[in-house]
Amino acid sequence: MTALAISFDDVKKAQERIAPAAHRTPVLTSTTADELTGAKLFFKCENFQRMGAFKFRGGYNSLAQLTPEQKKNGVVAFSSGNHAQAVALSAKILGMPAVIIMPQDAPAAKVAATRGYGAEVVTYDRYSEDREVISRKLAEERGLTLIPPYDHAHVMAGQGTAVLELIEDAGPMDLVLTPLGGGGLLSGCAVAAKALAPSCRVYGVEPEAGNDGQRSFRTGSIVKIDTPKTIADGAQTQFLGKLTFPIIQETVTDILTATDAELIQTMRFFAERMKMVVEPTGCLAAAAVFNKRVDIAGKRVGIVLSGGNMDIAQFGSFLSTGI
Ligand SMILES: *Cc1c(COP(=O)(O)O)cnc(C)c1O
Repeated sequence: MTALAISFDDVKKAQERIAPAAHRTPVLTSTTADELTGAKLFFKCENFQRMGAFKFRGGYNSLAQLTPEQKKNGVVAFSSGNHAQAVALSAKILGMPAVIIMPQDAPAAKVAATRGYGAEVVTYDRYSEDREVISRKLAEERGLTLIPPYDHAHVMAGQGTAVLELIEDAGPMDLVLTPLGGGGLLSGCAVAAKALAPSCRVYGVEPEAGNDGQRSFRTGSIVKIDTPKTIADGAQTQFLGKLTFPIIQETVTDILTATDAELIQTMRFFAERMKMVVEPTGCLAAAAVFNKRVDIAGKRVGIVLSGGNMDIAQFGSFLSTGI
């Protein structure tokens, strides 16, 4: 058996590395949520992280470890979502150039936010061009370092700091749940949770329409699916990573799912009761808990709210009409 990609020590080192730049986000509680579920819930609010999602943790942890030569040449990432902004902002803070590859039809607000962090945005036609080919070509031509969104040890260790902080600040948990896309967040957080509290059960939650992670976990090999149709755009990944999957197999208790309708109900709960904007993907773990996908009666439950970035008109329309 090959060694796992990261250890708890990597997560602790990541925490020291990102501390000067990342926010230590609050852990919030809600009496209403506790009454609804019969448990004690602790929400780790990464919707309040810099650039609005936990992805800043992994992005900054990766960029901070590049060699002076790599820093001088800069980095490249392909994403139209939170990873793009995480890499762009980290590069700006660390004073290095960043190129972000985005589809031509990416939302104007996301393109503007990424440019606002000082990154160069290169667009491609997602129906006729392959973004990986474009990034690799650019990386070669300009000597850029490619920063993957989840399947990289430095990214995974950085994401794990979310649950390290949650347990440091709120105490040991019986269960921890995180949203699941490619598994960077879940694998890093599971390593932290297991090291701090070995009996803690860890769950990943993905959109019901794209349950490749659940199928992979239950069959024991990585299942690939077509891009799923879901409002949880941060978890529209088609497969788990080669590095994240073995850690998930080793440390996670199960993978659960939530439907889009449940995500909207959960967004509404956070807006109404806790006065927070949590994006659909950020609601996955909470939605599984609110809809009793796992037995939590009387337990202390850590829930990662992974991000809060979304178009505010869209947010309003989800809350008012449910679509
Ligand atoms: C990227 C993202 C996820 C999924 O993270 P993975 O590391 O790919 O599993 C979950 N929530 C939000 C808000 C994200 O941006």
